[in-house]
Amino acid sequence: MLTRVGLIGDPVAHSVSPAMHNAAFAAYGMTDVYELWYTPTDQLSQRVGSLRAPAFRGANVTLPHKTRVIPLLDTLDDSAQMIGAVNTIVRQPDGELHGLNTDAPGFISALRHGGYEPRGGVGVVLGAGGAARAVVYGLAQHGIRRLTIANRTLAHADALAQHVQIPIQVLALDDPALDTALSQADLLVNATAVGLDGRSSPLAAARVSSHLMVVDLIYHTTPLLHAAAQGGARVQHGQEMLVRQGALAFEAWTGRAAPVDVMRIAVQHALDGQ
Ligand code: NAP
Repeated sequence: MLTRVGLIGDPVAHSVSPAMHNAAFAAYGMTDVYELWYTPTDQLSQRVGSLRAPAFRGANVTLPHKTRVIPLLDTLDDSAQMIGAVNTIVRQPDGELHGLNTDAPGFISALRHGGYEPRGGVGVVLGAGGAARAVVYGLAQHGIRRLTIANRTLAHADALAQHVQIPIQVLALDDPALDTALSQADLLVNATAVGLDGRSSPLAAARVSSHLMVVDLIYHTTPLLHAAAQGGARVQHGQEMLVRQGALAFEAWTGRAAPVDVMRIAVQHALDGQ
């Protein structure tokens, strides 16, 4: 029987997840297919309900449904519960739907792949949206000692900090105290959308020094990463997190080890073609 998974969101057309997961299925000789399921809000309940049928393994969930999908599910893992967002749904053999968040563990897995161990570290996270929430939760879960969250809208950073049980300093993105935080940190993560245009940067290059590991969740080398690499810092862009969250979803759907290298190459090809 053909088994289906797919991406639930609005919009979905830009997604490279079909390329990544279909390459993974093919690597195992599986006939499963990963599809794009464009789903406006008024069709969300019906779409999620349809996953209870045996033809489905589950789904990924993207904007704007990561939070509003929660009441439609039967159970949640700890990450999804803490973050308040689901990016992966797994259909259980009895038709129940289990919600996971693989963004947080995917981020940590990518970070370790890049040679950074969060335990005992000191981090600065730029941004306080959905991606920042997964990053902050993942870092806190994996033993980061101290965090600074800097965001354009201070109230959003305050709200995020309240959900985490480690020492957190909250700053506006343009606060000069960010320089002190950066000098004391060993990790900088850009989880804002600034840099997507290939020109803008959330920080002036001079503020990023060589002792930092610098991660930008945007899927390509941003001006921030370019400047950081030129200054001698270790850098990583968002493709690795994308691949690792996908790998964890693949494993949850299939029970098989994800072919991470195959998935990484498929993502790279798909993004190069955009
Ligand atoms: P989101 O929830 O909309 O949050 C956007 C964040 O960017 C907020 O902190 C927002 O600040 C900030 N921001 C937006 N425009 C800004 C500007 N002009 N100046 C300063 N700050 C600005 O989006 P998200 O889902 O968190 O995504 C954020 C980024 O992460 C995107 O680039 C996305 O592609 C990337 N991402 C990557 C992965 C991955 O797997 N690599 C996964 C998820 C997301 P305010 O609070 O002030 O609005």
